[in-house]
Amino acid sequence: METMLAAVLHDFNDLRLEQVPRPKPAAPGTVVVRVKSCGICGTDYKAVKGVRTNVTFPAIVGHEPSGIIAEVGPGVIHFKEGDEIICQPMGYCGVCEHCRASNTHYCMHGFVTGGDGQDDVWPGAFAEYMCTTENSLFLKPAGLSFDAAALTEPLSGAWKGVVQYSEMRVGDDVVIIGAGSMGLLCQMVAKAAGAAQMIAIDPSPYARQQALALGATHAIDPVGEDAKSRVYEIIPGGPDLIIEAAGPIEAVKLMSSLRRRGTRWNVFGITTHETFELDGGLTHFLEGRMDASFGTTPLAMSRAIRLMDSGLVDTEKIISHRFPLSEIHQALKVMGGEERTKVIVNP
Ligand SMILES: [Zn+2]
Ligand SMILES: [Zn+2]
Repeated sequence: METMLAAVLHDFNDLRLEQVPRPKPAAPGTVVVRVKSCGICGTDYKAVKGVRTNVTFPAIVGHEPSGIIAEVGPGVIHFKEGDEIICQPMGYCGVCEHCRASNTHYCMHGFVTGGDGQDDVWPGAFAEYMCTTENSLFLKPAGLSFDAAALTEPLSGAWKGVVQYSEMRVGDDVVIIGAGSMGLLCQMVAKAAGAAQMIAIDPSPYARQQALALGATHAIDPVGEDAKSRVYEIIPGGPDLIIEAAGPIEAVKLMSSLRRRGTRWNVFGITTHETFELDGGLTHFLEGRMDASFGTTPLAMSRAIRLMDSGLVDTEKIISHRFPLSEIHQALKVMGGEERTKVIVNP
């Protein structure tokens, strides 16, 4: 039996590099991909550390892969061995009510490779090979590196939240809370979409410096400064759009406090079940629209590829570290530190 190197999670905080059987594309419509690059997402890190508990062991996480098709299964017609591809982690049936409404991330028969958001979890991309379905694949443009292409899924999530759901318009004054890799991708999308003022809010000096380097007009420290008065100094009329791309409930509360009449706001980063209060009458008279966005769709993936291929967004700029799969423990250590943005694993 052919084997491959994989990082197998046997329990929380028990990630082992080991040889496991190489997957075969046995089921109709499936392909096996030789993984070239995979980003480490915050949710992967949380799975390893036991912060995210919806993990069934043993598990291979990693859901942001790019690679080369190694083998195609029966009935695969649109892709062939050797094609350079990008993989959408949320697999979908294309036939259920949600898929037909274009919400493939709600698919009733869906699966996810190496991530969460669906009950059916397939082994992910912190491995030399992974198996997925043909309809989860996108051809990688030749000019795009595998590392840049591995950021398609997070970039697509940023586009879906900022542009598709919150309908950002050219000239909008935008506030993005959180300048980690997701916040920075939201910022790059907002810049490409024509943001006027682009304010980043993050307690980390490293993150604020990254935000300014990528085109934020201002960066605010919400701990050392009064974020609300600083925002209203910079934009006296208040923000047109606020994106919470941070995670902590305090960030959602800060977002709510920054609203003026008509502000659109997006609950984008938080995934934990914590609560915040809204004043009913105030929310009524503010007339702001609240959106939320998770996961990705084939449309968002296609747009993200176009943003990178056209040069509107350069995802290489937020890659701070690269590690071979054999050094994944070191990569996870860097993930836990402060001075990093996107960390890439090359299996
Ligand atoms: Zn992710
Ligand atoms: Zn479906």
